[in-house]
Amino acid sequence: MQLNRRAIRLVALIGSLVVFVVIILTISNQAASQANQQEKSGPIRVKLHGSSPPSPNPLLQEVGEPNGILTHVDDTDRPRANATLLSLVRNSELRGIVGTMRDVERTFNSKFNYPWTFFNDEPFTEEFKRRTQAMTKAPCRYELIPKEHWQMPPWINKDIVEVSGDILVEDNIMYAKQQSYHRMCRWNSGMFYKHPALKDVRWYWRIEPNTRYYCKIDYDVFRYMEDNDKTYGYVINIYDAPQSIRTLWPTAMEFVAQHPEYVNPNNAMRWLTDNEKRPNHNVIANGYSTCHFWSNFEIGDMDFFRSDAYDKYFEYLDQAGGFFYERWGDAPVHSIGLGLFLDKSKIHWFKDIGYLHMPYYNCPASKKCSGCHAGRFTDAGYLNPENCIDNFFKYVHAD
Ligand code: GDP
Ligand code: MN
Repeated sequence: MQLNRRAIRLVALIGSLVVFVVIILTISNQAASQANQQEKSGPIRVKLHGSSPPSPNPLLQEVGEPNGILTHVDDTDRPRANATLLSLVRNSELRGIVGTMRDVERTFNSKFNYPWTFFNDEPFTEEFKRRTQAMTKAPCRYELIPKEHWQMPPWINKDIVEVSGDILVEDNIMYAKQQSYHRMCRWNSGMFYKHPALKDVRWYWRIEPNTRYYCKIDYDVFRYMEDNDKTYGYVINIYDAPQSIRTLWPTAMEFVAQHPEYVNPNNAMRWLTDNEKRPNHNVIANGYSTCHFWSNFEIGDMDFFRSDAYDKYFEYLDQAGGFFYERWGDAPVHSIGLGLFLDKSKIHWFKDIGYLHMPYYNCPASKKCSGCHAGRFTDAGYLNPENCIDNFFKYVHAD
């Protein structure tokens, strides 16, 4: 009896061990096949359209100055544009901005002498002012951001910020709970052009610390924009993390439903809503491809941002709270506004401007460039699928 009971227990133990091992094997198998599935439908997949071969990389052909009316440095009879180099920067980023200023002055501004305007939510230190002014013979202005432009607006519910921040963390969204990052994105989305120091300024070139510029620019880029009827210039087009902007597109669509009159008949809607190249992004972002102008570089007309269409769109987004409840970036916010309200022929790709903001380049093949590999988008090959500029060519312009 005793022996029998022991034998039964032993068999039961072995039995449950076998069941346990089988369960573990099944689960891990499922996980592996899910991961596999994800990989297949996920970011790495690049779908070609129809039977057309992939278009050659325009950066690999010799890139010259853009077509159109150009003002070179010796065209002294042509006035400068009403423009500034604009940088939101922290005192702690002094080294980074000095390095970038060295590039921008060498390649462009030592010839054209546009003023620099620096913005900060804290006063700039004397050392910051001294060392940045020493990088240029153009005037530098140092501006404090008014509290009401930087603070979290009063209608934002802090408890919801906390809880939704946890969701962003689960989704691996960078800066999920860094409140200063959320404020920065909001300021760049809808506040910079309202700063009193820019009241009488029309054009800006946004410059970020630690970015690199590789190519000589011998014409006045601001005059180029003005004289050729351009509104917005970019260098890089990339995908965003869709989990950071789940409700941005639906909120923009609510605004547009209330204000259909603002939508430009020659808009870039198809670029904004592409769901062929990266369908899962479009699904998570609820209808937006997430492809955007990477706004750490931009040359833009503040009259566009100050227009009723853009500014009311920003106010609508701001009320919805997504700058804090999600992590809406100024890049997708600008891009959706531009794609909806602007005539798409007024958007210009500065393919001749060699640029790096880690980890992405715009690097043209040109004698005017040195320091980057022509045509290379990133040093980290696995990031190549983040590039969506081919969608811009496909839907907007194919020059
Ligand atoms: P990322 O490129 O998205 O990783 O963001 P960055 O850290 O480069 O920030 C974007 C820009 O905003 C940079 O020019 C920063 O110097 C600036 N910035 C970010 N946070 C703050 C802040 O709290 N205060 C100030 N003054 N500038 C900020
Ligand atoms: Mn940056």
